Amino acid sequence: MRYRSPTAHPKKDIMDFALSDEQKAIRDTARSFIRKEVMPLEQELLRRERAHQPGLTRDELRELQSRARKFGFWGLSTPQEYGGMDLPAVTQSLIWTEIGRTILPFRFGGEADNILYHANEQQRREYLLPTIEGDRISCFAITEPGAGSDAANIKLSARRDGDDWILNGEKTFITNGNDADFAIVVGVNDPERGVRGGGTTAFLVDRAMGWRSEFIQTMGEGGPASLVFEDVRVPGRNVLGEVGQGFELGMQWIGRGRYIIPSHGLGIAERALQMAIDHANTRETFGRPIATNQAIQWMIADSETELEAARWLVLRAAWTVDQGVDPRHSSSMAKLYGAGMINRVVDRVLQIHGGMGYTRELPIERWYRQVRLMRIYEGTDEMQRLIISRDLLRGYTTIGGHLG
Ligand SMILES: Cc1cc2nc3c(=O)[nH]c(=O)nc-3n(C[C@H](O)[C@H](O)[C@H](O)COP(=O)(O)OP(=O)(O)OC[C@H]3O[C@@H](n4cnc5c(N)ncnc54)[C@H](O)[C@@H]3O)c2cc1C
Repeated sequence: MRYRSPTAHPKKDIMDFALSDEQKAIRDTARSFIRKEVMPLEQELLRRERAHQPGLTRDELRELQSRARKFGFWGLSTPQEYGGMDLPAVTQSLIWTEIGRTILPFRFGGEADNILYHANEQQRREYLLPTIEGDRISCFAITEPGAGSDAANIKLSARRDGDDWILNGEKTFITNGNDADFAIVVGVNDPERGVRGGGTTAFLVDRAMGWRSEFIQTMGEGGPASLVFEDVRVPGRNVLGEVGQGFELGMQWIGRGRYIIPSHGLGIAERALQMAIDHANTRETFGRPIATNQAIQWMIADSETELEAARWLVLRAAWTVDQGVDPRHSSSMAKLYGAGMINRVVDRVLQIHGGMGYTRELPIERWYRQVRLMRIYEGTDEMQRLIISRDLLRGYTTIGGHLG
């Protein structure tokens, strides 16, 4: 540190922005694992993707995950009774930032969709435990061709037939939809009550029960799928949670990603910005490094400032989750600002790299395509703004009210 304030001395009542020793230790172990075990595969991933092959196979991902398990990383959010770490949200956020540093589509294993914990005893054995172990792949399906932001407009119908349910309709843009062997599907069982009035239910639907998926090409690597249900018969015992609870579970599922997505984005921004700094210091034009130009310096300064602002929004959102306080307002701000920040930073980093930034030799153009999604899924920018402004306009929260 080059600067030390003459008044800097420990005070008992100051606000503490420091991480605890335990948080730092877990973050550093995750960083070391990502650096030593995951990042060395990046060149191969880029090579495969240039050849239009899948970047990372499922077996390779599982192999990495089982190596991480030996390091102690298994089930970041999974309760300890299921063998997980059950980490506080702030620690999970720090780890997701470390994961964001690698371009590999890596995540630690031992996780299941948060709403699968509403499973009954039999569903635990059939769906929850094998998903945690990585033996089964799930997907979560609420979006439909006619209902994305307006999720309350879903139409997939769930009709009772004796003890069973018959599902008809289509879901779209479902992550893992082409690989999953079961889907958590939200359908409308009681149109009279409506989606918000308790007229929807979530079902655990095996692919073997008859739904089919169609891959959707996107600007990112990998891609979601449409799921088509034509008279798919689902046994009554496959209702997840209660009949009528579907929309509520759907909102719970979506809520979790709101601080995870920007946590991941922070890691991408950190790594990309460091690449830009290194490049600016070494690339010479007109006989001097491009870092000597104010145009480049300002891009670096703006990126660092926005990254830091996003970091505190994200950590506060995660902290709010840990406090057991309603995290929706702070999570929406973290997702809105964090997703915008990462898009702006990657754009500047690409600009600083000039033509090389545009090539597939470097990961930058890949990030450029990948991070665009962060402004769309699990609630678009506009939906986050709707939530933030509604909370203020209706008086659910006050400006700066969280400071007490
Ligand atoms: C790669 C990918 C993966 C996804 N994974 C999943 C998944 O696993 N499961 C799942 O269920 N869904 C998933 N989704 C769906 C995703 O959540 C939706 O795409 C998203 O919620 C937006 O819905 P939409 O695409 O129908 O856009 P629309 O709702 O049609 O919105 C179009 C535009 O209008 C804006 N808009 C809409 N209403 C308003 C308003 N009232 N005021 C101002 N602006 C408005 C939106 O913000 C957007 O800019 C995924 C999507 C993608 C692209």
